Amino acid sequence: MDYDEERDVYICKNQKELRVTGTKFEKTKTGYKREKTLYSCEDCKGCPYKTSCIKGNNSKIPMEERTKHLEVSKLFQKKRTEDLTRILSEEGCQLRMNRSIQAEGSFADTKEDMSFRRYLCRGGQNVLAESTLLAIAHNINKLHHKIQSEKTGQHLFELKKIA
Ligand code: SF4
Repeated sequence: MDYDEERDVYICKNQKELRVTGTKFEKTKTGYKREKTLYSCEDCKGCPYKTSCIKGNNSKIPMEERTKHLEVSKLFQKKRTEDLTRILSEEGCQLRMNRSIQAEGSFADTKEDMSFRRYLCRGGQNVLAESTLLAIAHNINKLHHKIQSEKTGQHLFELKKIA
């Protein structure tokens, strides 16, 4: 649905407005408190999109008499928009690209290049010690490579731009 921020209304597929009818406060299982804004459609009578628009087949009210209701957490919407802006920004794209190279690449390096296929020790403490040694060895390798290619001080790969 389209949202008219100025008037705080949603416009549905049938060009009807869903206006604010109230506010609801909820607490999740983890104790997080959230505020939701409730919207209701002005008139859903005779709408051809009703069966796909209104969910929940267990309602005792017949479909002809039902009206579309929406519950929206404005804080969630705001955070989601901010997240999307960050993810799609140039810095966000660079961080995502680097994450895929650096995190996934480390597994490939240790498993393929360093031929690490199985732990030699048993027990949590020993496995942790072996993992730590492996990580140190991997980091030394990486540092050596950076020194050789004169890339020290450069933490992120540059984003390749399409001309
Ligand atoms: S059911 Fe109501 S809210 Fe949904 S499309 Fe039809 S008029 Fe709009």
